[in-house]
Amino acid sequence: MRRKDPDLQRCAVCDVETDNCCSACGTAGVALFFCSREHQKLVWPSHRIACGPGKANPFFVPPKYLSAPKFSRLVEYELDADGIQPFSPALASRVTSNGKVSLERALLAICEQEIRNLPFYLKHGAVSKGNIYMRSAYFCTSYDKRKSSLSYVEAVAAADPMDYAARLIALLPDFDELSVAAQTMSLHQTLVLARLLQLKVRSKAPPPSYKPEYIGGALRQLLVQLKPFVRFDDDEHAQRIACGFKNEVSQFYPIDCWFVVDPDGGGIVDFKWKALAANN
Ligand SMILES: [Zn+2]
Ligand SMILES: [Zn+2]
Repeated sequence: MRRKDPDLQRCAVCDVETDNCCSACGTAGVALFFCSREHQKLVWPSHRIACGPGKANPFFVPPKYLSAPKFSRLVEYELDADGIQPFSPALASRVTSNGKVSLERALLAICEQEIRNLPFYLKHGAVSKGNIYMRSAYFCTSYDKRKSSLSYVEAVAAADPMDYAARLIALLPDFDELSVAAQTMSLHQTLVLARLLQLKVRSKAPPPSYKPEYIGGALRQLLVQLKPFVRFDDDEHAQRIACGFKNEVSQFYPIDCWFVVDPDGGGIVDFKWKALAANN
């Protein structure tokens, strides 16, 4: 049975319409479309993290644990960037147990500090967003701006796909407001996008079935899938999200992208992108 919106039945990789979906995910009640075996295989190294019963639906970002000094340094770095009060090392030491920071305790400590404008503290018990934040912070361990030992591109290439996907999902400020079903779908699609970006920046030659323009298609799928779930009432807010992704993706594959808004007040109707000349 076809869905009403053909936009929701497109290959997660290349964004073409298709009826084929991942059968393992299908048994778990998630329709993740791949036009071909080749495209499914292309993103398998990241999709396997969340493929099939028990993993696919609902899909939550698994937490990751950091050592106390690393956690406090990373959180401090992240907060500095947003001009928010830094997380003090003294607090970090209070949330450790056997030298590890548990997510729950870290979140609790951050709540104590009342850093209310942090994304994962928007909602009490926003564990999903907290996990995403931790994985995203973990990604930063291989990318330390202060030391510049590794370029951002190298860090992306080397990262665990889940860590880098968490980095990408953090660009969706409304993520925690989404239903579990919508969060699950966006996480699946973000893993696909993360894998495509990693393939673009790895020094080894990518597989022949890979094309850099799939990055734009996968990004479009990510944002288009959110159409039924999110009402981006505020046009400016929506375009800011588009801009966040544009900046991230353009570090590897320069694009322009934007939400198309219904002039009659019907909200977001589409997401468009185009490759920039810098790619040639
Ligand atoms: Zn495809
Ligand atoms: Zn699957």
